[in-house]
Amino acid sequence: MKYVKLERDGKPVWGVLQDELVRTLVKPPFAEICYDGQSLPLAECRLLAPCEATKIVCIGKNYYDHIEEMRSMLDASGNPERPTLFLKGPNCVNAPDGTVHAPDFVGRLDYEGEMGIVMKKRAKDVREEDALEYILGITCLNDVTARDIQKSDGQWARGKSMDGFAPIGPVITDEVDPNHAEIQTRLNGKVVQKSNTELLITSAAKMIAFITASMTLEPGDVIATGTPAGVGEMHAGDVVEVEISGVGTLRSRIV
Ligand code: MG
Repeated sequence: MKYVKLERDGKPVWGVLQDELVRTLVKPPFAEICYDGQSLPLAECRLLAPCEATKIVCIGKNYYDHIEEMRSMLDASGNPERPTLFLKGPNCVNAPDGTVHAPDFVGRLDYEGEMGIVMKKRAKDVREEDALEYILGITCLNDVTARDIQKSDGQWARGKSMDGFAPIGPVITDEVDPNHAEIQTRLNGKVVQKSNTELLITSAAKMIAFITASMTLEPGDVIATGTPAGVGEMHAGDVVEVEISGVGTLRSRIV
């Protein structure tokens, strides 16, 4: 199934996407699917980020090629012995076709195209072999980063978690295998990142087991699974797109 969240009459509502038609739901599609009997064409929808994030749990350094490029950029240490986690707050959530704006003091604003995982069930101490039962599906995510702030602060809260720094969407799908998803990022139409989630150092299921050993994930929470090589700068006027085959394209404009 494919799920979307949209604005209808000024309020958020979830829907199931069938061809180009959205069948709207009474409540979020976590515990069960309850249609409200209405539908509307996708083209007429103003889509919202498809999540109910109380937090976005992010994994840093999860593709070897990105670790290499960060070694010089952040003076980072070598390959991690265990996943490095950090958080983005719900203030970061940004809609598909939204705008990203960084405060004037930010000197370098980067895109990081990533696979996002949206949780379906409350998850705590989940075993790796059970982990994929806890997810609603995958989506596209841009882990927008104020790189100079990330570097100068030493820890990552401010550089990673500014308002609007997590565009998410446009849809969630359970029809794409999170272990074999093609991902690419385009900056003004030019491909700048291209990879496949089969190259993730820590797989989706391992990640969920690792995270939930320490913190409870709630339905609608999001995991950002890390970015491949090719991260780079964005400037006002740029359009950045993160595309995952079978999911769609998440487009944001930098202002
Ligand atoms: Mg990232």
